[in-house]
Amino acid sequence: MATEAESYDDSVAKRLVFLGPDKQPFYIMETITIPALKPGQVLARIRLATICGSDLHTITGKRREPTPSILGHEAVAEVIRHERGPEFECKPGDRITFSIADSCDECQRCRHGLPQKCVKLFKYGHSRLETGSGLAGCYATHIILQPGTSVVQIPDTITDKMAASINCALATMVNAVYSITHEHVENKVALVQGAGLLGIFGCTLLHEAGYEKVYCADVNVDKLKLISRFGAIPLVSGMSGKNNPKLNENDVDVIIEACGASAVVEEGIQLLKPGGTYVLVGLVHPDSPIYLQGDKLIRKCLTIKGVHNYAPRHLKLAVEFLAKTSTKYPYERLVGPLYKLSQFESAVKDSLSGRYWRVGIMPGVE
Ligand SMILES: [Zn+2]
Ligand SMILES: [Zn+2]
Repeated sequence: MATEAESYDDSVAKRLVFLGPDKQPFYIMETITIPALKPGQVLARIRLATICGSDLHTITGKRREPTPSILGHEAVAEVIRHERGPEFECKPGDRITFSIADSCDECQRCRHGLPQKCVKLFKYGHSRLETGSGLAGCYATHIILQPGTSVVQIPDTITDKMAASINCALATMVNAVYSITHEHVENKVALVQGAGLLGIFGCTLLHEAGYEKVYCADVNVDKLKLISRFGAIPLVSGMSGKNNPKLNENDVDVIIEACGASAVVEEGIQLLKPGGTYVLVGLVHPDSPIYLQGDKLIRKCLTIKGVHNYAPRHLKLAVEFLAKTSTKYPYERLVGPLYKLSQFESAVKDSLSGRYWRVGIMPGVE
């Protein structure tokens, strides 16, 4: 595991190139000369990257992605140099987070508040090597951010461990939670389905929004261990007992699905009160058909919405939220062991074990 001091050479970059789930080995390490920056680009060192569930889906072949590529989209970075001119808010040495999607700011989708669905969309950690700068993923010592990528400075109160997953799980949950109007929440009940990283952030955001009660349901008791520290009441799915709370039909005002299991939706519809809202966030994979009975939806006047990724404004709000609550919740405990880039295979194994919400990679450590 990574314990030694960091060392970077800002003229060359080391990158981990993913070759495909069926390839043996499935990745190789390369060293390349860092190219000269083009207008609008930012060169940054990756300080700490985390392995997301979607990276694991790509590595294990559950989800097909273009290869070869540099995986990894969740990271806290440090600005080395940039070509964004004097108006750019960040300077060399600043720690930053960045939007996982680069967008054009001109197409209809960008102009109507959905830049994450831009017609010219480019996503870090998900693109074929030849299409980008050659440094477009977080499992590398350096990353080159494109002109349409939103960059937000990280305040000192937020540590690297807290910051690494802001640009995926936290910003997405900010989008999910802020997409609902929260009126008279002091008398309302919310439920988050899933106690993974998305679910945990959902609980803190709903708790901070002022809900009377926030429940978090998961089949995995271990995942619920810390949930009361994040503002929610644990609920072990499929288990009855006096210590396990039970929700009944029409008990819940708002549900956020963050577990990725389509079977939970039918129960969620039952639990929602008339006029309730259901936000689907976790079911973002092909094995996600859901059972919906039309008349229940109509008779209960329910709203169901899907939320995928986020816009730059949510990234900014995510940083502000974390800065405001950094001492209130034990965010650092959500990141397990840290590995060097050369130990990637062990890091993936540890990540697949499911024992940690996130496993970290420190590319600057030799
Ligand atoms: Zn992610
Ligand atoms: Zn666009």
